[in-house]
Amino acid sequence: MDTTRVCGMRVELAKHPLIAHKLTYLRDKRTDSPTFRRLAEELVTLLAYEATRDVRVEPFDIETPVGPTTGIKLSSPKPLVVPILRAGLGMLEGMVRLLPSAEVGFLGMQRNEETLEAITYANRLPDDLSGRQCYVLDPMLATGGTLAMAIRYLAERGADDITAVTLLSAPEGIAAIEKEIADLDIPVRLVTGAIDERLNDQGYIVPGLGDAGDRLYGVV
Ligand code: URA
Repeated sequence: MDTTRVCGMRVELAKHPLIAHKLTYLRDKRTDSPTFRRLAEELVTLLAYEATRDVRVEPFDIETPVGPTTGIKLSSPKPLVVPILRAGLGMLEGMVRLLPSAEVGFLGMQRNEETLEAITYANRLPDDLSGRQCYVLDPMLATGGTLAMAIRYLAERGADDITAVTLLSAPEGIAAIEKEIADLDIPVRLVTGAIDERLNDQGYIVPGLGDAGDRLYGVV
């Protein structure tokens, strides 16, 4: 894992041969939707392992068959996992496989393909997120508009620790998020499978993998 701090945001680039292997097949345009979905889930589980490194825990007393000991368990309130619809849904299963007791909220966000600006069309989140660690799932960090809006939204409702998990990120998107959230005084972290070269004129990540939603769900 390579870690850099881009001003206030900690950026963690997962470096593992299995992640690189799975990403290569995700990128390949010959990969069909069922395989794409399975690979995305597997990748998220690997990224989730890194993303949850600082998940909050508390001591927990138990008895083994041999005697008492103190272990740990996830603290309350439980972490909140927030997939950004629609493509973030393809990451949910892989995340909750590792964090089965997490709660899940949904944010529906879409970018206007002409202005590339993000709009919110659905929100199923608790109003009060005080003291919550949140994990935001969005496969593609492209212009950063959607993710920045989601992070701000969670922070305004009280989340005090936010980790964004993406499969691929563009340098422009990372810079944009950094700028957009500069006034937030909570820790924000990005865990990503790869940082690609750039965005093209249509706001797609290059080389990227195309439209993640379409590739996950097979509809345009
Ligand atoms: N969203 C996608 O699905 N793909 C990109 O390359 C950029 C944004």
